[in-house]
Amino acid sequence: MAERNIQTLVCSECKRKNYHYQAGKKRADKKKVEVRKFCPSCKKHTLHKESKS
Ligand SMILES: [Zn+2]
Repeated sequence: MAERNIQTLVCSECKRKNYHYQAGKKRADKKKVEVRKFCPSCKKHTLHKESKS
């Protein structure tokens, strides 16, 4: 079907999937993205890692 590449950002502390976003078309980079984002579960900023949903 459509080439949708939904990425999920998972909190590295509680493992919750807090953020979803659609990756750009055909990104070839395979390295995992790590970003600091607010986790509503931990109620603080934590490191979020990218994983495929
Ligand atoms: Zn968390």
